Amino acid sequence: VTARIVEVRKNILRENDRRAAELRRLFEEKGVFVVSLVSSPGAGKTALLERTMRALRGSHRVAALVGDLATDNDARRLARSGAPVRQINTGAVCHLDAAMVGDSLADWDLSGIDILFVENVGNLVCPASYDLGEQLRVVLMSVTEGEDKPLKYPTIFNTADLVVVTKADLASAVRFDRTAALENIATTRPGIEVIELSSQDGTGMESWLRRLAPSAVRK
Ligand code: MG
Ligand code: ZN
Repeated sequence: VTARIVEVRKNILRENDRRAAELRRLFEEKGVFVVSLVSSPGAGKTALLERTMRALRGSHRVAALVGDLATDNDARRLARSGAPVRQINTGAVCHLDAAMVGDSLADWDLSGIDILFVENVGNLVCPASYDLGEQLRVVLMSVTEGEDKPLKYPTIFNTADLVVVTKADLASAVRFDRTAALENIATTRPGIEVIELSSQDGTGMESWLRRLAPSAVRK
């Protein structure tokens, strides 16, 4: 039984990789810079996107796809920025896959978008296995979650391009051990870029926006 499950899983992932490669070509062709965000639930993906989309809206055409098991609360929050936002309800599925992303974009004019954000379902486990065709995968960890997320979930940190430490404004209140956190990140994924920020008071937002904006070609 175990062997069969492994085989089925391999086939699903193979199909996902094929679809993701197709998406990546499409994004390239249409000049869309696609950034995915992944974290455990409550690490601040939506809050960061809210602030980011507001900040970039004046200079870039931004849009977002938001994955959640249920509700469209996050999509409604993000839509207040005035940018096009679409919710993907995954039902019982605890991650986004390339087909869900591709299907929700089917009737969107991608050439009208400079930066597309994809907020994954809050989960640090299986999103690691699903390529979404994104050019930048960002893993978030909040100071309130403690310092050992990278050690507990190394795979997601190994598939990411950038680590964002969120809720920096709460660091001293929760006695966040910054040195230990940075060490754990570096042990898990030597050399990966880390940005520490707060979506509440704006600390570190500058570096984050600078990281995003040059990659997006303005049309
Ligand atoms: Mg969210
Ligand atoms: Zn899953």
